[in-house]
Amino acid sequence: MGTKAIRVNTNRKKYKSKKQRAQSILVRLKRLYPNATCSLTYSTPVQLLVATILSAQCTDERVNKVTPELFSQFPDAESLANAPIEELEALVHSTGFYRNKAKNIKAACHMIVKDFGGKVPQKMEELLQLPGVARKTANVVMAHAFGINAGVTVDTHVNRLSQRLGLTEHGDAVRIERDLMKLLPQADWENWSIRLIYHGRAVCRARNPACEECELASLCPSSTVISPQNRNIDVISSAVR
Ligand code: SF4
Repeated sequence: MGTKAIRVNTNRKKYKSKKQRAQSILVRLKRLYPNATCSLTYSTPVQLLVATILSAQCTDERVNKVTPELFSQFPDAESLANAPIEELEALVHSTGFYRNKAKNIKAACHMIVKDFGGKVPQKMEELLQLPGVARKTANVVMAHAFGINAGVTVDTHVNRLSQRLGLTEHGDAVRIERDLMKLLPQADWENWSIRLIYHGRAVCRARNPACEECELASLCPSSTVISPQNRNIDVISSAVR
């Protein structure tokens, strides 16, 4: 007598497709983080753009400590474009990569003044022309400054969680974004990212994700909690004669 393990995907009936599962995750995220908003502090689209450039490889908390002084000295595109680079570097120093960030902020604001009448452009292709602006920054600005869901913001948390949740097999932001755009309703593209970021900070951390207390565990193929729901795969032992 012996035993043989048979693997059965018990959730196949419940979640017929990846899309269905993504949408169930979205519903739970909305319930878990009903008031989730962009955590950066800003008053204008230019300030949001600058804060988002500064948030690369840096926490929003750290950026929010730097921007009050930065924006009190240089509140708009014109003043930022004309700011002495050494002063900008000193003001953003603690956000890391300060030389590059200061250079990009100055150059982006210069282009906003020169080519866009001092206002942040509202088209994705125009935003992407600005120095230091890739899709992540452009998506944040489009969504939070103008209320336009142009894409899904993929930062380090969205990247990690989308892979762990089995919603993409890709590791690069552009492909992950493309996969998520196919799975989620356009109206929810940005709030998906914001809520996933909250979840990544609070529960599904890079190291030691807290699967045992995770409300998404039953929908997550990477859960470390051993149960049929968590694994999305049931293991049934049966007697072998
Ligand atoms: S179950 Fe674990 S791996 Fe999956 S989302 Fe939750 S914390 Fe992350």
